[in-house]
Amino acid sequence: MDRVADEALIVLEKVNKWFGPLHVLQDVNLSVARGEVVVVIGPSGSGKSTLCRAINRLEPIDSGTITFDGQPLPAEGRALARLRSEVGMVFQSFNLFAHKTILQNVMLGPVKVRKEKPAAVRDRAMGLLERVGIASQADKYPAQLSGGQQQRVAIARALAMQPKALLFDEPTSALDPEMVGEVLDVMTSLAAEGMTMVVVTHEMGFARHAANRVVFMADGQLVEEAAPAEFFANPKTERARDFLSKIL
Ligand code: ADP
Ligand code: MG
Repeated sequence: MDRVADEALIVLEKVNKWFGPLHVLQDVNLSVARGEVVVVIGPSGSGKSTLCRAINRLEPIDSGTITFDGQPLPAEGRALARLRSEVGMVFQSFNLFAHKTILQNVMLGPVKVRKEKPAAVRDRAMGLLERVGIASQADKYPAQLSGGQQQRVAIARALAMQPKALLFDEPTSALDPEMVGEVLDVMTSLAAEGMTMVVVTHEMGFARHAANRVVFMADGQLVEEAAPAEFFANPKTERARDFLSKIL
C-alpha cells in the first residue's frame, strides 16, 4: 500500500454529539491516515452511523473538532458541497435514483454538482462500471439489478466524484448472503489500491483481511482500537470480548 506515512486525512478531536438527552458521541478522538482502512465495529446503537455521518457533516456535532485534509469541516455552501464530494458515502440502502439508468446514476453527481462535461463523465462512469463488474448493465434501471449489483453501482457512483475518502455504513447488511462477497471484493480492491476508507461493518473477514485498524465503539465511546490481528486475538476490554463472543 502506497500510504504517505502517518499523514492524517481525517482527524476527530474530542467530538461530542447529543440527540436530546442521548450522548451519542462522547469525546471521540480518531485519526485516519491517507490510504488507511479503518473498520468500525460495535453493538447496534453505539454511534457508528452517527460517527460516519459526522465526518461528511450529514450530522453537525455539538463540540470538538473534525478536520478533513487539514481543514475544519465547512458548515454550509459550496465548501460543504465540495466536502461531500471529497468524502463519498455508501449506505446500507443503496439510495440509487429509481427512474434513472445505472449509467445516469453514476454520471449525475459529476454533471449536476460539478458541472463537468457529460461526454467526459460518461467515459469515466463506464470505466467505473467496468471496474465494479457491471458495465453490461449500464442502460438498465436499479430495480432490474440484484442488491449486490446495486450496491456496486452505489460504489461506482461515489467513485465518480473522485473522492479523497470513502465512508461505508454497513454496506452489506441489507444484502442476501450470496451477494455479500461481490461487494466486499470491490471494497477489498479499493483498499488495496490505497483508497482511504472508514467502514462500519459486521463482516469480520473483511476487517481481518482489509483493515489496517479496527475501532470498537460502545455507548458513544471509542473503547478500543488496534490492528486487526491484535484486536481479534487479544481484545483488551471486557466489552469487546463480549461483543466478539456474540458475533464470531
Ligand atoms: P449505530 O449505527 O452504532 O447503530 P447510531 O449512530 O445510528 O448507532 O445511533 C446511536 C444512538 O443515537 C442510538 O441510540 C440511536 O437510536 C440514536 N439516534 C440516531 N439518530 C438519531 C436521531 N436522528 N435522533 C435521535 N436519536 C438518534
Ligand atoms: Mg448504524
